Amino acid sequence: MDRERLVVVGAGMASLRLLEELKAACPGRYAVTVIGAEPEPAYNRVLLSSLLAGEASDEDLAFRDRAWYAANGYRLLTGAPAQTVDAAARRVTLKDGRVFAYDRLVLATGSEAIRLPLPGAHLSQVLVFRDRFDALRLKELGVPGARAVVIGGGLLGLEAAYGLVKLGCAVTVVHLMDKLMERQLDAKGAATLRRALEAKGVAFALGAQSKAIVGETRVEGLELGSGEILPADMIVMACGVRPNAALGRAAGLAANRGLLVDDALRTSDERIFALGECAEHRGVVYGLVAPAYEQAKTLARALAGDAAAYGGTLLSTNLKVSGVSVFSAGAIEAEDGDETIVLSDPGHGCYRKLIVRDDRLTGAILVGEASDALWYLDLIASGAPLGPLRDDLAFGRGFALAA
Ligand SMILES: Cc1cc2nc3c(=O)[nH]c(=O)nc-3n(C[C@H](O)[C@H](O)[C@H](O)COP(=O)(O)OP(=O)(O)OC[C@H]3O[C@@H](n4cnc5c(N)ncnc54)[C@H](O)[C@@H]3O)c2cc1C
Repeated sequence: MDRERLVVVGAGMASLRLLEELKAACPGRYAVTVIGAEPEPAYNRVLLSSLLAGEASDEDLAFRDRAWYAANGYRLLTGAPAQTVDAAARRVTLKDGRVFAYDRLVLATGSEAIRLPLPGAHLSQVLVFRDRFDALRLKELGVPGARAVVIGGGLLGLEAAYGLVKLGCAVTVVHLMDKLMERQLDAKGAATLRRALEAKGVAFALGAQSKAIVGETRVEGLELGSGEILPADMIVMACGVRPNAALGRAAGLAANRGLLVDDALRTSDERIFALGECAEHRGVVYGLVAPAYEQAKTLARALAGDAAAYGGTLLSTNLKVSGVSVFSAGAIEAEDGDETIVLSDPGHGCYRKLIVRDDRLTGAILVGEASDALWYLDLIASGAPLGPLRDDLAFGRGFALAA
């Protein structure tokens, strides 16, 4: 009997992890075709910031070469965006006209960077930061002495800013909110991070609205809502991402922000699955790699015919580049009845806040020193009572376990 045809659209991090998991769960069961829009096989997107900052090489980003796909019977097409999915006929048509029939389809199309529709946003020195091409372009324009404005004081914006500072650019981060990484840090943690980044040469305009990009034929600056113009040779928009759900939506799949999936990562069409940043599970669209990897594990088991369920992922964030350790997981502000433990040493740029609820750790923010991050994350994820650990919790794993 012919093998079932499994087509995977998207050749990014979630897609590759699914292939790895399928190899373990049901090797050879499907005739797999992977359709990727980027010109190369999946690479470590997370390391793009390190690549920009000169702290990782192209080789560091590589995962599997083409020979690996071939050796495992995976047919890999690159530089080949899929244009339409015909769910009734079970066919995917590529932009170049090729057509692939499937028995099962997986959508792993990730996200696209949001481009603010500002006047002047069409200028070629206005960039985003999502793929390897963007990183190359940032490096090309980010020559020593260039003035760069990064719009967005979240994780991605700060990593882009630090990378550009390391290239020798004069960088200002413009952020709408009055504190950095507001979804992961409280006010004191954000202020500690800001000071540390200022010491590394990043300037900030917080609580500032971006109004227009100044320049006729090339970028000359960014006009803020206040009327102030920040001179700039390049602008980086790092203001969030939008799930690439259009392909699935046009095929009639149920979608909200992302493509709606159940606990087996199945969309509203029983033959079509979705995972990674294009999927929305129990109302959550994840923007990190750990959930995508957990989803890949579940989906491989589901495709192997096993009962498997994905129950969601506890989110944690860390800033990789910038030379400032930052970690955040769980609650960032205490609720009534919670205990808040704070250690703050502004002189050394260190801040630590832990939130305890009913003798359980429910949130942790670490700035400046984050070597105990995984320990705190495990405590939050397990939900186990702290018991005797509570007394020395703030001083970290070594101290609390030795006590
Ligand atoms: C600079 C940067 C730093 C990051 N740092 C971190 C971090 O520190 N920690 C963390 O957890 N996460 C980080 N992330 C996020 C992480 O990279 C993503 O969560 C992860 O890549 C999601 O995997 P995915 O497969 O869903 O999407 P992607 O890896 O984006 O892959 C989707 C792929 O699908 C392709 N595609 C889209 N549409 C089509 C189509 N129609 N046809 C064919 N192919 C298509 C895209 O071109 C892309 O190659 C970072 C992201 C960036 C950009």
